[in-house]
Amino acid sequence: NLPRTYATINLLKPATYSSVDDFKLTWSSIENYRVIQKIGRGKYSEVFDGVNTENQERVCIKVLKPVRNAKILREIKILQNLCDGPNIIKLYDVARDESSKTPCLVFEHIENTHYRGLFASIKEGEMRYYMYQLLRALDYSHSQGIMHRDVKPQNIMYDQPKKRLRLIDWGLADFYIPNTSYNVRVASRYYKGPELLVDDTKYHYGLDVWSAGCTMAEIMFKKDTMFEGADNNDQLIKISKVLGTDDLLEYMRKYNLTLNTYYQSKLDRCPKRSLKTFITSDCKDLVSEEGLDLLEKMLQYDKNLRITAAEALEHPFFAKIREARANSIKK
Ligand code: ATP
Repeated sequence: NLPRTYATINLLKPATYSSVDDFKLTWSSIENYRVIQKIGRGKYSEVFDGVNTENQERVCIKVLKPVRNAKILREIKILQNLCDGPNIIKLYDVARDESSKTPCLVFEHIENTHYRGLFASIKEGEMRYYMYQLLRALDYSHSQGIMHRDVKPQNIMYDQPKKRLRLIDWGLADFYIPNTSYNVRVASRYYKGPELLVDDTKYHYGLDVWSAGCTMAEIMFKKDTMFEGADNNDQLIKISKVLGTDDLLEYMRKYNLTLNTYYQSKLDRCPKRSLKTFITSDCKDLVSEEGLDLLEKMLQYDKNLRITAAEALEHPFFAKIREARANSIKK
């Protein structure tokens, strides 16, 4: 059940790294910021464009709705631990309104190009770049013992003119501790890995790679959604129609997992479908042998047969990007 990489990271770090028990926060005053306009809304927050009134820097202010204190502290702790990593959204400050005590997270502001428009006109080179930057964020987070657990296009901010990508919304993220059973009610339906759908609570960083694979498939095949389940049960059915049932059953056997009664009647035996069958005249310019190979390795039922983010970064699909990076470092 253990991941092939970074399995024991949190056991090697001081206990304060992954625990919020003695986490003392100093809240600054929200008076230091001026709100400009609302830019987003989530299940757990309202998000505003704002300015730091001391240095006039543009910021993004996430005003949290009332949730468990431990959940808020976990998000802050994780953001602080990851703050210096590549393509991770930077947390500048935590502020509170003096009277209401409403907690606000103050982030760097990203001029986001909405993913729908971006994906509609994206070219092959930019798709590779986008995926590479996303995988860098994931590999860094995993190397720090943290799984994001909600990777999806809506949580990837991308400033297209500046070619800057940031992975946001660390509200569902958690520390990976080997042999822990985790809650499978994480991630958004279309991006939920098979492990969440078959109640494999001993999941790990691989979950994020699955969700990133679903994101890559949307871009590469110009599909609104790769696996569009009507509900969580149907989600696994939709996956099995593409990846087939043999590998699913093999994965379940290996980890001694059992299918719930819903699936026993609904899951028809079906063969694995080649990802090539998703190629249409619309998307053919985005598809390459290497792209299909990487995607196939990301979309594996078995979390331990799935490619890791670190391995994905070394995949031939990114050869040109690695070369360009190496050259720019030399200069
Ligand atoms: P969810 O319901 O998906 O869990 P949430 O309540 O945790 O959402 P976020 O996903 O962090 O909130 O933010 C909600 C929206 O606000 C984002 O989808 C995005 O449009 C916008 N947003 C958040 N952070 C930034 C940022 N740093 N720069 C620009 N826009 C942002």
